[in-house]
Amino acid sequence: MEFAALAERAERVAANDGDIETTLAVAALLADAGAADGGEDDGTERDGSTDDLPVVVRFLLGRVFPAHDTRTLDVGPALCREAIARAAGQNVSAADVEDRLAERGEIGAVAADYDFGGQRGLAAFGSGRDALTVAALDEELRDLAAESGDGSESRKRDALFGLFTRCSPSEAAFLARLVLGEMRLGVGEGTVRDAIAEAFLAPDETPDPGDDSGGASESDAPELVASEDAVAAVERALQVTNDYGRVAVRARDEGIAGLREESLRVGRPVQAMLAQAGTATDAVDAFGEVAVETKFDGARVQVHYAPADAGPGGTEALGPRLYSRNMDDVTEALPEIVEHVAERVDAPVILDGEVVAVDDDGDPLPFQEVLRRFRRKHDVERMREAVSLRLHAFDCLHADGDDLLDEPLRDRHDRLREVLPDAAADLTLADDAEAIAAAERAALDAGHEGVMLKNPAAAYTPGDRGRDWLKRKPDVETLDAVVVGAEWGEGRRAELFGTFLLAVRAENEANGPPDRDVDGPAPAGYATVGKVATGITDEALADLTERLEPHVVDETGTTVAFDPELVVEVGYEEIQTSPTYSAGYALRFPRFVGVREDKGVDDADSLARVRRLAGDD
Ligand code: AMP
Repeated sequence: MEFAALAERAERVAANDGDIETTLAVAALLADAGAADGGEDDGTERDGSTDDLPVVVRFLLGRVFPAHDTRTLDVGPALCREAIARAAGQNVSAADVEDRLAERGEIGAVAADYDFGGQRGLAAFGSGRDALTVAALDEELRDLAAESGDGSESRKRDALFGLFTRCSPSEAAFLARLVLGEMRLGVGEGTVRDAIAEAFLAPDETPDPGDDSGGASESDAPELVASEDAVAAVERALQVTNDYGRVAVRARDEGIAGLREESLRVGRPVQAMLAQAGTATDAVDAFGEVAVETKFDGARVQVHYAPADAGPGGTEALGPRLYSRNMDDVTEALPEIVEHVAERVDAPVILDGEVVAVDDDGDPLPFQEVLRRFRRKHDVERMREAVSLRLHAFDCLHADGDDLLDEPLRDRHDRLREVLPDAAADLTLADDAEAIAAAERAALDAGHEGVMLKNPAAAYTPGDRGRDWLKRKPDVETLDAVVVGAEWGEGRRAELFGTFLLAVRAENEANGPPDRDVDGPAPAGYATVGKVATGITDEALADLTERLEPHVVDETGTTVAFDPELVVEVGYEEIQTSPTYSAGYALRFPRFVGVREDKGVDDADSLARVRRLAGDD
């Protein structure tokens, strides 16, 4: 395929404004790029092995190499502007290009504006022999990426300049955006995924234009016809290979069955599974049983290792390789982790974990310390002396020939403990918020960041920030509330108050304090916001009972009301609107922190603050 044709098609893709239209336009482009004898119709020589499809797919996503490939072009904006300036002619400086960029806002438009005359140049020679093809461009960019060492920057600039001089305006725009990885086509990864399914896996039914007999939809609105199964197969293959080009080719050549055969490969990093913020109650509600792990404050690392003479046939030996969350190869910076893995693991593995800096006692140090080591290329040994690192592995994606992505976390964790017991993070199962709070306190006490709450039954979904992994949101603020009621405890604690009704000041409310049918008494000028029974030691309970008993003004069954006297500090996970309490809000998962000895009831928090904390003001 000629580069000019791709650049023009890409412009047309960008001009679409509907998602479906864009996907269909990309699908048509992929189908053409991937047509069996693609390119031969132009009569140029092809060696038969050239396949434009993977290249076109990557280019559309602003890539020359697949995401898992650690090679990069390493062409920055400055180098690109210099190459453009040179191609534009003697009177144009890099500063001029920068000025234009400030006006136009985008490098592709600037490159197109200059009109390097690539096309006219070719016309002047009277032949198309020099027209850039997609394959040739790909090769030149790969050569450019391979430049390293002294003078490599200027060789890259020369190479890019040479390419620009061969470009028409639309090619120049495409090339400038490609080398900077910002295609601006409105084509994201999801679009390309759907387009691959649409181009190569959709049922072959060309509707007969004359056939209006039932079945076909009435409107002419464009539709995607690939099945959900087809899209899921593409998505799956993308997750395990991290290579859009490869997946497009496999979909075209071998269909859904071929895609399903794609598997993980040791040495080819996959995207990390990500977490959403969530609370302990969210986790208990969603998962029932919750896998609680320490949240380590370090840097994410994916460990790939295939020891020599181990493992099932087909797994090539590979020394430990370590990849960052962005799949950069960080192996050289972390020699002790490499040694640790090489000494202990005796089967091919892909592990997920966190590298943490530790002090001489093995206690965790702040995140900034890891950064002193993580991407370091020089002075690695010296820094190794200064900052010690430790690996905490928390997941196992592959072990000894088995891909484990679809296994439940619980089982993956078992495999993790088998392959690398001394680096495997602890996983505890908990089914109530209190147990989670206890685990969190232990993690914080040990100097860690908090806890992760995971669904023990969930698969590992690369690149997904789903609801199966929750990073527990820390309590951001506490509330100083007035204790306005209580319930007597039960059994052993029958002589003590057990649950305390909390209120905030509401005397300044424009319409007077809220007046609702409430669960418990609220004295004039106060509005209730919840009850707290968690986090109170026996000692604190005795103290609270002793201090509050003299202030009882009413008693019904086991419930008492107090005159407002005592202010307590309470933590909570969230404030939500609620019909249960007269404030119209309820604290979720309230936790007793302590008595505010220093505060009188007039210093307690107000309903206005509760509203603000709830995000309503
Ligand atoms: P955040 O960076 O705040 O979005 O939190 C998610 C990150 O926490 C992950 O990308 C990991 O780098 C890190 N992390 C620390 N401990 C764990 C763990 N036990 N499980 C998963 N991620 C963890």
